[in-house]
Formats: sequence, structure tokens, C-alpha cells
Amino acid sequence: MVLLPRFESPELLILRSLARRKHLSDKDYHYYENHEKGFEGEKKFDDLLESFPEEWLFLNGLLLEYNNSFFQINTLGIAQDSLYIFDIKYFEGDFTIDGELWKYVSGTPLKNPLHQLQRCESLLKRLLQEKGQHFPIKSYLVFNHPHFTLYHASPDQTMILPSQINRFMTKLKHNKSNLNDKHRKLADLLLAENHPYYPNAYKPKYQYSELTKGILCSKCHSFFLKKLQPGTLICQSCSHEESIENAVLRSLQEFRFLKEK
Ligand SMILES: [Zn+2]
Repeated sequence: MVLLPRFESPELLILRSLARRKHLSDKDYHYYENHEKGFEGEKKFDDLLESFPEEWLFLNGLLLEYNNSFFQINTLGIAQDSLYIFDIKYFEGDFTIDGELWKYVSGTPLKNPLHQLQRCESLLKRLLQEKGQHFPIKSYLVFNHPHFTLYHASPDQTMILPSQINRFMTKLKHNKSNLNDKHRKLADLLLAENHPYYPNAYKPKYQYSELTKGILCSKCHSFFLKKLQPGTLICQSCSHEESIENAVLRSLQEFRFLKEK
């Protein structure tokens, strides 16, 4: 059962809006694309959870804080035996590991995702200890892009590669799980600790006056909306339809984020 559904973060909503409404530098556009891609990968992982039994609780996109350090958990699963951290990496292409160093095959280094996962687990452990909660934690790095290849990887039980995902998930969901009040209280506690957004998230600089105005399609995010009939808009790019009322409310929310952040 999904207790916390996944939403786009305000950071992604702002980046997505700016990418359409102004010219972003290559660096900022790349930053935006990474966020968009990450979200796509997380949604794909969510699809796999739909067939899990009710006796698994899932909290998606939790943003927690311990000792002034923020950490995000892409998906947290609560089952009888343990808590499960799933860090979803929607990396596309060829990567290689050289000792502790992760690189694109081109040679450009990237942050070791195992270190990020270890940090996340360690902070969650300490936060739970502080709250008097004691649960074992299992952490996994899930690479779910079908075109992901990792060279020189030694077998590592914390890494789930694209060809292993189905087997891994099938095994997990067949683990017997009977939840009790202790598990539900933990879920409530984590929901109460959840922050709506990173307070110091990076965003490109912009002035309201330089932004192209207009309503964006909620599906493909293009400007090509036309009035279809009284009360409805249709996107000329992807044919998505939406009521004008919804589109206006959605745009108000978007402008509020742009104004506030
Ligand atoms: Zn569209």
C-alpha cells in the first residue's frame, strides 16, 4: 500500500517551468534534464510496486533531516522483517567502476552512488534511534534503465542491475509480511518528519518579467494549447485534454512556486 505517493518536487516543477519559459544555460538545462530523468526512473520503479501485497507500506520521495543534514529516500518500504531503502538510478549508457571510483566510459568521474546510499542509511538509522525506533534496514541501489551497463562490477548484493530487477522484486514480494501497530506508528512518524522541499535547492536565476507567459500542457509541457469547446483545452502537440479550470489552477500553483522560491 502506498502511503506517500510520488510527486514532482517543487525544485523539478520550477526547473521544468523555467526550461520552457526562458533560455537556460547548457549547464542549467542539463541539471534540469537530470532531474526530469530521475523522476521518470522513479515513476517506472513505482509501477513495479503496484503488484506488491497490501502488507507492504511504501513512502515515496521522503525528505528527512537529521542533525541539520537533509537526505532523500526515493522509496522506503516497510515490511515485517525490515525497512527497505531503494535508491533508484535511471542511468543510461555505459559506466565503469575502478576500485571506489565510478566513471562514464568516456572517463568522466561521477559521484559513487554507493556512498550516497550508505549516507542515507546511516542518517536514517540515527534518526530512528533518536526517536526510539529500532528496525533493521536493508538498502539497495536499483539501476532500472534498460540501457544501463556497468563494467567491472563485482557481485554486490546492494546493487540491482536491470537484468536482475524482476527476479529481485518477485522474491521480495513473496516474503511473508504481517504488519502490526509498531510498523504503522513508524510510518506515521516518518510522514510527520517529511519535509515538503529542500530549503537550499539550487535554481537558476530569473526575473518574472523575462519569463514567457502562458499555460503549459500538463502532459508534454508545451505551450500549444487551443480551446476545444467551452471549458476545455486541447494540446496541439500531444492531444491531451484538460478543463480550463484545472489548467488555470495548475498554472497559479506554478507561478506561486516561481514567485516564492
Ligand atoms: Zn501536450
